[in-house]
This record gives sequence, C-alpha cells and structure tokens, in this order.
Amino acid sequence: MKSIGHWVAGKPLEGGSGRCGPVYNPATGEQQAEVAFASAEEVDQAVKAASAAAADWSESSLSQRAKVLFSFRELVNARLGEIAGIIVDEHGKVYSDALGEVQRGLEVVEFACGIPHLLKGEYSDQVSRGVDVFSYRQPLGVVAGITPFNFPAMVPMWMYPVAIACGNTFVLKPSERDPSASQLVAELWAEAGLPDGVFNVVNGDKVAVDAILDHPAIDAVSFVGSTPIARHVYSKATATGKRVQALGGAKNHALVLPDADLDFAADHVSAAAFGSAGERCMAVSAAVAVGGAADDFVGALVERAEAVRVGPGRDEASEMGPLVTREAKERVTGYINRAQGAGAVVARDGRSLVVTGYEGGFFVGPTVVDRVTPDMEVYRDEIFGPVLSVLRASNVDEAIRLVNSNPYGNGTAIFTSSGEAARRFHREVNVGMIGINVPIPVPMAYYSFGGWKDSLFGERRIHGPEGVGFYTRSKVVTSRWPEPRGGLAGGASLQFPTSS
Ligand code: NAD
Repeated sequence: MKSIGHWVAGKPLEGGSGRCGPVYNPATGEQQAEVAFASAEEVDQAVKAASAAAADWSESSLSQRAKVLFSFRELVNARLGEIAGIIVDEHGKVYSDALGEVQRGLEVVEFACGIPHLLKGEYSDQVSRGVDVFSYRQPLGVVAGITPFNFPAMVPMWMYPVAIACGNTFVLKPSERDPSASQLVAELWAEAGLPDGVFNVVNGDKVAVDAILDHPAIDAVSFVGSTPIARHVYSKATATGKRVQALGGAKNHALVLPDADLDFAADHVSAAAFGSAGERCMAVSAAVAVGGAADDFVGALVERAEAVRVGPGRDEASEMGPLVTREAKERVTGYINRAQGAGAVVARDGRSLVVTGYEGGFFVGPTVVDRVTPDMEVYRDEIFGPVLSVLRASNVDEAIRLVNSNPYGNGTAIFTSSGEAARRFHREVNVGMIGINVPIPVPMAYYSFGGWKDSLFGERRIHGPEGVGFYTRSKVVTSRWPEPRGGLAGGASLQFPTSS
C-alpha cells in the first residue's frame, strides 16, 4: 500500500514514528494509502530545517521572491489537472469542483507575486526640521499552517504563498485525510527554485499539531478547521506567545425574501448547499424563508435536490461526490434521523442513496429538512454534509435576529430585489462575509477572508492585505542626519520631543 511521509529541508522524509492513519478513496470506500503521523521529534526536525533556512530567505531580495513565486505559479498552473485528480481521489469532490479549488488557491499565489508592491512602506519627509519618519515591514521568522480536509489545496494556498513571499519559512500540517496534494505542492516549490527548508510538510494528528503549538521556534500559526480545534489552537499557541489566526466552523444562512426571484434563489441556494457535498465552510446550511415565500421555496429546493447527479468524482457526469469518510456519512445521517425525531420534516431524503457500482462509497444524497426551528440540533450544529435546513421567519427583523443569535458568523447571503432590504441586511448582520444575491461570497485573493464570532479567533483574517499584515511586523524609523558640527556638543534638550 502507498505510504505518504513528510517533506523536510527540500526532500521527502519517511515517517519514523511508527504511527500512521488510513487514507480512503471515498467513492469506493476502500483504503488506498497510509499516511505517517509525525512525532514531536519529527516536527522539531521540520522546524529546525525552517529555522536554518530563515536567515537567508528573510534577506532574499523582493525580486528573487517574486521570481520564485511566478515560477511556482506557472508550475501549479501546468499541473492543475493532476492536483485536482489527487483531490478527487482522496477528498471525493467532483473533478470540476477540485479544479475550481486549485484555481481559487492559485489566485492567492498570483496575489503574492505582487509582493514588491505589497511590502512598500510609508515615508514622511520633514516631520520636524531635518527629521524624516518611515515605516516598513519585516518577516516574523518560522510560521506554521494547520489545515482542514475540505480544501486540501486551496486552504494551504491561503497561507504559504503570502507567508513565503513576506520572507518567512513555512511548516505545513495538512489534514491527515487527504495529504497527497501537499506532497506534490512541495515538489513544485523545489522545482520553482525555492531554497531547501523554506517550505516543509509534516503529516499527522493531534501529536503533530500540539508539537507545533508548543514549539518555541515557531513565531506564528495559521489554522483553518472546526471551531473546537480553532479554539484549542488559539488558546494554546497564544499562551506560548505566538501570533495566531484560527478560522473555525460555520452555519451560513441564506435569507429568501418574498420579493426575490424564487427560481434564481432556489438554484443558487441548492448549489451552495449541495456543492462539494456540503463540505465547505461557506456552504449554505440554513435557508430562512421570509414571509410567504416558504412553501413554494421548499418545493423548488426539493426539485433541485432530486435533480443533482450524485456519483464518483472522477465521473464527468457527477455533480456531487461522496463524503470524506464513513464516520462523516454516519454523523450526517445521524443528524437527519434526530431532526426527524425532533419534529422536522424531511422533505427530500438522501439517507438511503446507493450509487450503482460504488456501493461501498460514503454517499449521502442531497437532503432538505423543512420546518426546522432554532432549538433543533440540526440547526445549532455545523453538520458539514449535503443537508439544507429550512427555517421560517415572519419578517426581515426576525430573520436578522436569527442570523445574529447564531454563534457562528462566517458567511451569509440575502436573496431579494430590494436594495433597501439588502443594505439593511449587510449593515446589521454580525457576519464577516456577506452575499447579496450571491450565495457563496468567498472574497477574492486581494481581499481578506474570515468570519466573525466563533468562526475566527484572532485579530487578522487570512490572505489579502490582512494576510500580509499577519505574516510581517512593522517598524517605524525616525531619522535625522545633522550637519557635522566640528565636534561641538549641544543643541539637545531634556524636554519630550515635539515637532517644530
Ligand atoms: P478539524 O478541525 O477536524 O481539523 C483541522 C486540522 O486540525 C487538521 O489538520 C487536523 O489534523 C487537526 N486536528 C484535528 N483534531 C485535532 C485535535 N484534537 N487537536 C489538534 N489538532 C487537531 O476540521 P476538518 O474536519 O478537517 O475540516 C472541517 C472543518 O473546517 C469545518 O468545521 C469547516 O467549517 C472548517 N473550515 C473552516 C474554514 C474557514 O475559513 N473558516 C475553511 C475550511 C474549513
């Protein structure tokens, strides 16, 4: 069986801890590889390689960094299909979706190619007579990224292109469920001319994560994953003095107002709920039908759910693939069972779906659960599967209150033809990323990505300008070059300096 190790100091490193985990093909349900779980000593080896490379890389010129990033961009672009294929085989999502994920990640690489521009400082001439002030940013040193299974290429690409372009060295701990994309990425960095040790990959579980969080030579940690682990990462890593951005889970609401184009809304809400089998942090998992829209809207959603072609990700006809593991499938169907038990109406049931020829796959069909109330577990928890809950609100006020009472604040959307309602909605919701007639409002790479409340711990969001801020520290220099006085002292005052 294929065995997946680590990547340290510019080359593969076989796992030596004796611990490993299974990697499945979710479409067939079969194990296809095993991935090594790094020990704390192996994490230390990667951090040592990153530390050793940091001095040189932080001194590299902006044009050298931009050159390596441009080469990396070309190599990823040339291998898009291959990376997407790896994702399909380990994650389960359909090929076109995997391709889209790599393309969105590549946009962050392209953003980071502009690092000479992004790191331009500020300069104030003559703040006082003969005194100038300027500020600029320097890299932190060694930074780490810990990433989830659902975007095995894109989410790491939210981090390392920016971190490396800023002059840091990087240790990535990808999800143990789909680790292979990161191995190929490491090879591409080497081919692009990145010096050994600037980009390292350690695979593993909690042992590797905790070794990263405790490691004294790591200066900052970027985390993306579920809220309980984000909270753990944030508290443990900040306690050891690291800078941390920890992005957590989500429960994204889509409000559908009676004045919306119902067909348009149903198309987009169902695509956002069932795309990637609902395993997206920006998936819509709660539709809120406002006013009289509910019954017609549920009917339209059921129609669309029934039409989704579910099958293996490699089959071009498939629109939605399986869930990532058997446990994920059991967890998701458990939520549907309990929702039904709690009085919700399963208007479209994906639990018994069997895909011919792929009977062992981890498939759950698109599911619409109607008459969900805010107290139900199916609404309170992030399910991370193709399950769309429909709630009803009598007016926009009630719908906004519902969004704001939820502990998560990642994304939300409104479907309406009223500019006034849309403006009120985006101003009043306590959510970080908002769509107006756009269901998955993932910001472009040159903006920053991140939610509010339990969806983000830490001050800075990821990629875009805040990503550059996260991976650098600024300095302000106040400078004076006095005329030579021929050795005469004097002219300084004990008074606190003011400008004149
Ligand atoms: P997860 O939290 O289980 O795992 C994320 C990372 O943490 C993995 O690398 C994993 O190995 C590690 N980890 C898991 N358990 C740990 C533990 N007990 N101690 C230390 N480390 C641990 O998340 P997942 O299931 O891989 O991904 C899905 C979750 O990620 C969902 O909650 C989703 O909303 C979230 N997510 C959020 C965003 C965002 O931008 N906010 C983006 C993508 C995914």
